[in-house]
Amino acid sequence: MSTSTTGTISTAGTGTTGGGTAAPVRPYQSYVYAYPHKTAYRPLTPRPALRDLWAAEPKDSLSLYLHIPFCEVRCGFCNLFTRVGAPEGLVSAYLDALERQADTVREALGEGARFATAAFGGGTPTFLEAAELERLCDIAVRRMGADLAAVPLSVEASPATATADRLAVLAERGATRLSLGVQSFVDAEARSAVRPQRRADVEAALGRVRDAGIPVLNIDLIYGIDGQTEDSWRRSLDAALAWHPEELYLYPLYVRPLTGLGRLGGAAGEAEWDAQRLRLYRSGRDHLLDQGYEQVSMRMFRRRGTPGTGGEDYACQTDGMVGLGCGARSYTSALHYSFDYAVDMREIRGIIDDYTSRPAADFARAEVGRAMTADEARRRHLLQSVLQAEGMRVAGYRARFGTDPAEDFPAELARFAERGWLDPDAAPGVLRLSPEGLAHSDAVGPELFSPAVRAAMAAYELK
Ligand code: SF4
Repeated sequence: MSTSTTGTISTAGTGTTGGGTAAPVRPYQSYVYAYPHKTAYRPLTPRPALRDLWAAEPKDSLSLYLHIPFCEVRCGFCNLFTRVGAPEGLVSAYLDALERQADTVREALGEGARFATAAFGGGTPTFLEAAELERLCDIAVRRMGADLAAVPLSVEASPATATADRLAVLAERGATRLSLGVQSFVDAEARSAVRPQRRADVEAALGRVRDAGIPVLNIDLIYGIDGQTEDSWRRSLDAALAWHPEELYLYPLYVRPLTGLGRLGGAAGEAEWDAQRLRLYRSGRDHLLDQGYEQVSMRMFRRRGTPGTGGEDYACQTDGMVGLGCGARSYTSALHYSFDYAVDMREIRGIIDDYTSRPAADFARAEVGRAMTADEARRRHLLQSVLQAEGMRVAGYRARFGTDPAEDFPAELARFAERGWLDPDAAPGVLRLSPEGLAHSDAVGPELFSPAVRAAMAAYELK
């Protein structure tokens, strides 16, 4: 990745490790959308029964997540669990397996399980054709008991697969939020991020989403693409703003091992690239704030006056997530679990084939996971709430854990303060990042990982 067209390099605002002489802290270390990361999960032996895991959990307000591991292309920056295309019969076989899993999991949850939110993610859920999406909704409603007509339902889509008939099914079945992965409105940048698409097709897809009448449109954009300038970034932002999206997510580009861009060896000039991304982040943030958006987190912006819609990149600090599908995680208060994880396409194909071949009884036990200790629960709570622009209420933390974050994380919080990442003007009783702290969210998060999770992630052999 090079920043040859973006002018001079500035590290202004980049935190240091103290005293002004230490090396700058890298701002883009890792996107902590869930803690602990799946690379810290390990095979569970013996495999615990879901019935036991869920027996004592509160179940009156669960989140349901259905994972569809198919995309029509593999974007160069993507390390999500997904495969390109599906040979004849695979989507049907996958939905068959989802049905078996849903029946088994629903039974294991027992009486009284209620879902307060639902989401279809991936991959690309709209890779499924209209009739297949009906089946997916039926799995959520009839087998899991989620009332999609009454709870927020968020769905991810790509421009090419957001066809009118598929969107009509989703709107009719209760989708309240449609998130479209656009990444860039500049064709050359889309090619550069290894996601070839034409702007005209993206605009047409956005028109179809608006015509479908789904209340909340989210547009994902990426900054830090090779050749992207502040001008071209502004053009993408303005093209997105022309659709008055209720939400915008601005993602820094990452080059990850085993992804298309990673294989190209595109990460030259890390410091320059960091500076480019910070510059584009700041200009994008300022532009959206000027245009009537509020910042929810480093990545998320919401049009002022739009109510929360369940699309936040922070689900809840308390637990209760039921994931179905071979890439989905599930959370109880004591264990986070899923199936095996991979990034390499051949490995992913193997895991999907394995998933589709499982009998119903096999879904009654968790397979890969990580226990949530009291220390991990504290870290997760702090991490997920302090990365929100509004910050964390210390009283809420104290009520949950009986301790104060300053007692539990004195060294980490002192470092953040020293770097100017904590807001000294936050309201009393609120722990909040400063604008620069928020800009460095992807450095703040990893510093709150426990030594055990850090070691497990480091020992994980990526496949
Ligand atoms: S970014 Fe989205 S559309 Fe692209 S490969 Fe990843 S999951 Fe699929």
